[in-house]
Amino acid sequence: MNLILVGAPGAGKGTQGEILSEKLNIKTISTGAMLRAAIKNETEVGKTAKSYIDGGKLVPDEVMINLVKERLAEPDCENGFILDGFPRTTAQAQALTESGVKIDKVLSIEVDDDVIVERLSSRRECSKCGAPYNIVFNRPEVEGKCDKCGGDLIQRSDDNPETIKNRLDVYHTQTEPIKAYYEELGLLVKAYGQVEVKDTTKEVFKALELEV
Ligand code: ADP
Ligand code: ZN
Repeated sequence: MNLILVGAPGAGKGTQGEILSEKLNIKTISTGAMLRAAIKNETEVGKTAKSYIDGGKLVPDEVMINLVKERLAEPDCENGFILDGFPRTTAQAQALTESGVKIDKVLSIEVDDDVIVERLSSRRECSKCGAPYNIVFNRPEVEGKCDKCGGDLIQRSDDNPETIKNRLDVYHTQTEPIKAYYEELGLLVKAYGQVEVKDTTKEVFKALELEV
């Protein structure tokens, strides 16, 4: 299955993506995580991306399109993949279609803006493996430590109130139009985000017609 996840920042794409990745036994490709790794490693892409990300803006389409095309060409994507964070603009969606990559479904996780703001301010992620946590809604077993790898949990630099507002604006103006694009292609399904992660997962599985 080649799957795209769409949703506002903090809608639960990363969390549900991980669950789906285990269920379907395919990799999640998170462009946000790829960019954060690029920044850490001080690559060319990382240098370009940093100022955009910290301002809550989108990294330019051509940078992202090249990055994702290269990633999807790697052998571990042959049997399927879950794209988290790409496409984020109509131009990116069109480029993906034109590159000949076949998409089976596009899942939109719908969450209201006021819920998003609350969630992002309590969001944490593993500094080692990138696994997502939330200190209110999705706590790790040991405070401050990743359940999977024991890495330290950190708050992302773009999860601050001002940047969050920009990211939500960008989502509504630049990313949400891709829902109409995929709806027209007959690929769009929707799941409504719930308070509990496991309840959202139920909605996600229903939307994708997967057995629990
Ligand atoms: P979130 O969805 O929680 O905002 P991500 O981790 O997916 O965060 O992405 C973080 C940032 O990386 C975005 O705010 C944006 O600046 C950049 N980014 C990630 N994916 C893309 C993309 N496909 N196009 C442009 N910018 C991107
Ligand atoms: Zn970890």
